[in-house]
Amino acid sequence: MIEILNDAEVARGRETGALVARILQTMKERTQVGTNLLEIDAWTEAMIREAGAESCYVDYAPSFGRGPFGHYICTSVDDAVLHGLPHDYALRDGDLLSLDLAVSLGGVVADSAISFVVGGSATPQQSALIDATQRALDAGIAAAQPGGKVGDISAAIGAVLRGAGFPVNLQFGGHGVGSTMHQDPHVSNDGRPGRGYTLRPGLLLALEPWVMADTADLVTDADGWTLRSRTGCLTAHSEHTVAITADGPEILTLPR
Ligand code: MG
Ligand code: MG
Repeated sequence: MIEILNDAEVARGRETGALVARILQTMKERTQVGTNLLEIDAWTEAMIREAGAESCYVDYAPSFGRGPFGHYICTSVDDAVLHGLPHDYALRDGDLLSLDLAVSLGGVVADSAISFVVGGSATPQQSALIDATQRALDAGIAAAQPGGKVGDISAAIGAVLRGAGFPVNLQFGGHGVGSTMHQDPHVSNDGRPGRGYTLRPGLLLALEPWVMADTADLVTDADGWTLRSRTGCLTAHSEHTVAITADGPEILTLPR
């Protein structure tokens, strides 16, 4: 299903996006060496409740995960890249942490992810991974123009990721958002320009480049949710929710 939102719904999406951005920034600021992933989950739950928003994750039970997710945020460390299930783990200096959060407020969903290094400074490889996903996200957003095609976005993202020397996995990518979290169109992290669905004002897309340092293959953790690089290499993930407007793309999940 593809939803085209009216102006009032896009305005609500702006509020949802601001909340998601504020929570992610707060989690980044609070996270220190020794912070437990379950603390991040609890802090996120508290902020979602205080805002009167709804988690998109707690009861989420798609075909690619084991039963309801049961937590409020995805916490993916080092070789974990997507759908990281919060568990009893105290973060260590130098861990590469990706946080992914989707909530619904006023009936409209926003979805965003950030990656950063806990504690001390990032290694060159950590910086390269994070930088590639951020630059790919910027390129994808720039390509999200009314009248353009989904393939324009995919091609822009893929060119940056491949140009940075990273393999690209096409199993999981961006997606439409609206009244629910995962909608059509799927936005692959590589593709050909000029192909696919035509971008129209009122369409909300979550764009989410992610990379693994030396493989395109994923393995599922024993927890039934967390996706890791097959080789154990480091990974990174960046995501924003973008509204297609008549004037071009508008990022809804930027911190205000
Ligand atoms: Mg997400
Ligand atoms: Mg997403």
